[in-house]
Amino acid sequence: MGLTRRDLLKAGTLLTGGLLFGGRSYGMNLLKSQGGKMELKFYPYTLELRHVFTIASGSRKTTPVVLTEINYEGYTGYGEASMPPYLGESHESVMSFLSKVELGRFSDPFDIENILDYIDDIAPGNKAAKASVDIALHDLTGKIMGQPWYKIWGYDKTKTPYTSFTIGIDTPEIVRQKVKEAEQYKVLKVKMGLDNDKEMVETIRSVSQTPLTVDVNQGWKDKNHALEMVHWLNERKTLFVEQPMPKDQIDDIAWLTENSPLPIVGDESVQRLEDVIKAHGIYSGINIKYMKCTGMREGHKMLNLAKALNMKVMLGCMTETSCAISAAAQLSPMVDWADLDGNLLISNDIFDGVKVVDGKIQLTDLPGIGIKKL
Ligand code: MG
Repeated sequence: MGLTRRDLLKAGTLLTGGLLFGGRSYGMNLLKSQGGKMELKFYPYTLELRHVFTIASGSRKTTPVVLTEINYEGYTGYGEASMPPYLGESHESVMSFLSKVELGRFSDPFDIENILDYIDDIAPGNKAAKASVDIALHDLTGKIMGQPWYKIWGYDKTKTPYTSFTIGIDTPEIVRQKVKEAEQYKVLKVKMGLDNDKEMVETIRSVSQTPLTVDVNQGWKDKNHALEMVHWLNERKTLFVEQPMPKDQIDDIAWLTENSPLPIVGDESVQRLEDVIKAHGIYSGINIKYMKCTGMREGHKMLNLAKALNMKVMLGCMTETSCAISAAAQLSPMVDWADLDGNLLISNDIFDGVKVVDGKIQLTDLPGIGIKKL
């Protein structure tokens, strides 16, 4: 067993009384961190959406979230669980799960693998609830180190991708208006799988030639129809198609991917790390979302595994505050495509963090997940 970064830093602290990390004295923080207790706090919050949000499974105007904090030795790490209704978690289920968490049994917040294994073992499912602890723990440890996670992971901030911006399903008049409002975005995302698929794209193309990404949310049931649609979209400047068919139609999806001129990305099919292996050979790429995969620890592993398998990686989100979005953005310099517009779709954000400038994700240099509470 080699020494971990932390062992080395501890050794450095003992030898020199303070090791410089990224230009900051890091040893003092570690000395200060020893012997404290982590305390988890959480409270429900409801996000107000700017526009009614419609996808193949229904429409809504709000999204319930639970905001978390882990306090430790004067530091506060922030986290968030977002629970769109179709995923089965709620204020009640997340609050109930979090009330079972006893972080007091751990003395060191850098014991991240053990802490998050413990969280994962409390109960199956509850992935957004688990992500809310994972994100807060990463924010906390990043703050103790005095560095944002993109730097701790060694990523290049200039390589962040453009984010797509979702144009919700609506009447042609409103769709044209939404597209005009979205002028700064270099990629537009369209939800499909209803009965007006071609009309949506034709309406957008009547006012904009911005490249599209298409999310069908399992809405196409027939593989020949799906292939015909993919060809049609390919002629209209589309980058890829996300979850075109029901996730259990594995053979049909594999056939579609093999014959498709566009990459086919799995979202509903790919929840956690183990699903990346299953998706290999079926899809061209995966969509990583913290609320599906329990957070930053597992999302980072999924990214590396998918890259090793030569698969495309997309980074997605739910409607979330800038807390969870900024946490996701820490991974973004390494992904092929990002769909991190969840904080832009709400009117009552309570964090300041990652920004979108001329359509491109712009990370902050604040430590942890790069946010400030408003
Ligand atoms: Mg999707």
